[in-house]
Amino acid sequence: MMATTHVFAGLAVVAPIAYVVPEFAIALAAGAILGGLAPDLDLVFVHRRTFHFPVAGLGVAVPAVGVAVVAPSALTLAVAAFAVAAWLHAASDSIGGGPELDPWNERTERAVYDHVRGRWLRPRRWIRYDGAPEDAALGLALAGPALLAFDGPLPAVIVGGIGVSLLYAGCRRRLVAWTPDWLE
Ligand SMILES: [Zn+2]
Repeated sequence: MMATTHVFAGLAVVAPIAYVVPEFAIALAAGAILGGLAPDLDLVFVHRRTFHFPVAGLGVAVPAVGVAVVAPSALTLAVAAFAVAAWLHAASDSIGGGPELDPWNERTERAVYDHVRGRWLRPRRWIRYDGAPEDAALGLALAGPALLAFDGPLPAVIVGGIGVSLLYAGCRRRLVAWTPDWLE
């Protein structure tokens, strides 16, 4: 899935909470956005393994949410939003495709690494590849709740993210042809 889809998923989770406690909206949004993006920083290490915790991440997210419920503050809510969004990112990578650049020609069976069982999870390909039409549609649907719940500058950022998603999805299949061989 696209980075924007992961961010919108995190924002969709925190949107109802931000609606109820708007004084923590910025903390929730910051945690969700960073948590949605953070796992893919492992592109420079072993992508979808080093910073992706599809199973173990839940073991961090649940206590973080517990702390935020017991002692709500900007910090505890931001940490909880980060942990949930990062876990959701890693877990949802398993319903997408593999990390391959051109899923039309080449298929890998490694979606995301499960550190608990010590093995790769298989891509289920409900979303066939990042930037697929269904990826863009899912991103749009997930962006909806956040657009309603947040005010200030965030809706403009979300609309910008939707624009990037649509643009990327629109030229996703051509990107492969433009990519120099040494990058693949
Ligand atoms: Zn990922």
